[in-house]
This record gives sequence, structure tokens and C-alpha cells, in this order.
Amino acid sequence: MHRQALIVGGGIGGLCAAICLRLTGWDVQVFEQAPEITEIGAGLQISPNGVKILEHIGVMERLEPAVFEPEAIEIRMGVSGRPILYLPMKGVAAQRWGARYLQVHRADLITALSARLDALQPGAMQTGCPVRGYAPCKDGAEVILANGRRIQADLVIGADGIHSRIRHQMLGPDAPRFTGNYAWRALVPAAQLGALAPPPSGCIWAGPKKHAVTTYVRGGALVNFVGIVEQRTWREESWSR
Ligand SMILES: Cc1cc2nc3c(=O)[nH]c(=O)nc-3n(C[C@H](O)[C@H](O)[C@H](O)COP(=O)(O)OP(=O)(O)OC[C@H]3O[C@@H](n4cnc5c(N)ncnc54)[C@H](O)[C@@H]3O)c2cc1C
Repeated sequence: MHRQALIVGGGIGGLCAAICLRLTGWDVQVFEQAPEITEIGAGLQISPNGVKILEHIGVMERLEPAVFEPEAIEIRMGVSGRPILYLPMKGVAAQRWGARYLQVHRADLITALSARLDALQPGAMQTGCPVRGYAPCKDGAEVILANGRRIQADLVIGADGIHSRIRHQMLGPDAPRFTGNYAWRALVPAAQLGALAPPPSGCIWAGPKKHAVTTYVRGGALVNFVGIVEQRTWREESWSR
């Protein structure tokens, strides 16, 4: 008999947990509220420690066509473009930390993780499946779906992100703390930027009370732009607003 784990949320944490548990002999089910895996999200930077784990759990080979390995991490003056700091990464990170430093579109990482999970245990993730909560029970816990269905297992993991219902139920109300930084994101096809294309690095463009970050994702086909502006107030924590 395999032990059974139920994972609430098919984001990066939930899918990684499902793959790791599956690789150590568990049966897993992931409940994801989104009706389907979509293009929502933008650029992520994966440092060598993360790349090592993705290699170890067999995800890197699927992700490889979508990654971009930047030449460096650099800081420049935002207006003049004058270099302030340049840390070489390509060829250096693997030597120094044992794996590459990579940039990737969140959607491509989610696609690679869910494909890997599906290869290990077909149909392990159910989309369009919001979870209402959980309840402890004899020998484990059960997940309560929004439609009222209850499923029991040895283990329930809450991986349902920043607005987690599972965390709320387990630990009580919590609220994100605003850091004073508002981030505006955009993705632009690199081919359309011509001479305005940013350098092939992870580049921070520094300025007073604001800065921008440019990276490349989807194998270099898209430029990811994040503009960070200091503000006193905010309206909503959201990745899709
Ligand atoms: C749509 C989206 C876009 C993002 N884009 C970026 C980005 O561009 N750059 C960046 O650096 N970070 C991004 N992030 C954040 C980044 O993915 C997370 O901060 C980080 O990966 C933490 O991972 P996580 O697995 O804990 O949570 P998340 O990756 O947030 O995943 C949580 C998952 O749980 C699901 N979920 C939530 N509540 C329930 C419920 N009740 N029942 C079932 N499922 C539920 C959500 O739909 C989501 O798929 C994004 C997150 C999201 C959800």
C-alpha cells in the first residue's frame, strides 16, 4: 500500500512537493483551483540551488528549451546606462555553485513541472478544483472541496499560495505586509525591441525611488520587464491585476 498525500494548490511549491513525494513512493493528488494552466505570470530567476533541485527531480530536461542563461547579473544607472556592478554568471555559476543561474517564464516552469508529475503519475493534478478547507481525521486528514466532496489521506499539504485557505484555517488570519514597493510587469518580444533590447543579463536599472529589472525568458525570445516604484499605499496583492 502506498501512502497517500493530498496537495492543495498546483503552483511551484505544490507541484514540486508532489513530484518529490511521488519519487519517494507516495500516491499524490494535487487540487488546483484554476480551470487550466494558463500563461499568467512573467519572469522568474532560478538560482543555482533551485536549478540543482530541478535537475535532481527530473524537471530540467523538460524546462531546458525555455530557459535563458544570462551572461551576468549587473547594476546600471537607470538614465545613463552607466555600469555600476557586473557579476559574471554564464560558465561561472556552474563552476562556483555547481549549477547554472537561469531565467524562465513562470508559465514554462509550471508546464514543465506538471508534465513531469503527469509522467510519474498520470492524472495526479486536477484543475478546476477549488478546495474549501481540511479536517483532521483518524489516521490522517481530509480535504474538503468547494463542491462539498471530502477526500481522506495520510497527509494534507497546503501549497495554496499567499492567500492560502489552509494556512488561514490552521493558523488564523494573516495579512501581507506592504513593503512600499509596487511592481509593474511587462513581457515584450525581444525581436520588436531592436537597438533598445536590454543586455543579455539580469540587469537592475537604478534610480531615485524607483528601479527596473530586465531579464530574458522563453529561451531569449521574450524580454521581461519589472518596474518597481516606491509608494505609500496599495490596493490589492495580485499577480494578475
Ligand atoms: C498567477 C501567478 C503568477 C505569478 N507570477 C509570478 C512572476 O511572474 N514572477 C515571480 O517571481 N513570481 C510569480 N508568482 C509568485 C510565485 O509563483 C510564488 O510566489 C512562488 O512560486 C510561491 O509558490 P507557491 O507554490 O507557494 O505559490 P503559488 O505559485 O502562488 O501557487 C499557489 C497555487 O495554489 C492555487 N490555489 C490557491 N488557493 C487554492 C484553493 N483554495 N484551492 C485550490 N488551489 C488553490 C493557486 O491557483 C496557485 O496555482 C506568481 C504566482 C501566481 C499564482
